[in-house]
Amino acid sequence: MTGIHRSALAADARRVLGRSFSGRCIGRDEDDIALANKQHAATWPLPLPELLIACRTQQDIVRAFEFVRDKGVSFSVRSGGHCFADLSNRGEVILDCAGVNSLEIGEGRQVVAGPGVLSGDAIATLLNANMTLPVGGCPLVALGGLSLVGGFGLTGRSQGLLSDRVSAAHVLLADGRILECRADRHADLLWAITGASPGLRHRDPASF
Ligand SMILES: Cc1cc2nc3c(=O)[nH]c(=O)nc-3n(C[C@H](O)[C@H](O)[C@H](O)COP(=O)(O)OP(=O)(O)OC[C@H]3O[C@@H](n4cnc5c(N)ncnc54)[C@H](O)[C@@H]3O)c2cc1C
Repeated sequence: MTGIHRSALAADARRVLGRSFSGRCIGRDEDDIALANKQHAATWPLPLPELLIACRTQQDIVRAFEFVRDKGVSFSVRSGGHCFADLSNRGEVILDCAGVNSLEIGEGRQVVAGPGVLSGDAIATLLNANMTLPVGGCPLVALGGLSLVGGFGLTGRSQGLLSDRVSAAHVLLADGRILECRADRHADLLWAITGASPGLRHRDPASF
């Protein structure tokens, strides 16, 4: 692929996403493309994507996804970049969710977190509220990937996996719709994305 083509993809993304997009589009020929190589468990050397789309809001993620879908380019989704198999660094475009990293403690001590929240930051915030979550040993792993594949750590024997605790999720479908899945709505999808976790059967926090 030529430099002209590479620049064209980034320029195209900026044009299509427009000013209402609050994230960044970084082409392969730009210095900041080095941000694409934050993978922590990768084979070396890492391939660089043609384009990194760094999202800051859920709406950014939807729009970035629609861009890559409509362009027909290959892409991967990344939160903390700790996938041992490098699955978050594949294809022409990386959709980076690291900047979608707000964390709130809501009603009934429910934790509402973006995929980019680092597990170490989550624990530091929750401890201030006398709460915690079962996460792994590496503070730089993000909840985006950790909540999908398990999340096993020092408290695992008594507290189970992080995915056991996921009670709801916003899932972006291929047609651009976001489904909220939870125990009473699209429960099968929630069960599937949390690695068939038994959490739904034990969703009463008191049962943990
Ligand atoms: C140094 C190190 C230590 C680790 N320690 C532990 C541990 O103690 N316990 C444990 O359970 N695991 C541990 N892991 C494994 C880690 O939890 C998983 O690899 C986890 O999936 C990483 O999540 P991430 O968001 O940081 O990584 P990413 O590479 O960003 O994502 C991992 C996978 O999830 C997908 N994904 C990411 N974000 C999204 C999203 N928003 N929507 C849909 N799919 C998404 C990616 O495409 C990829 O397939 C460790 C990994 C490393 C590298």
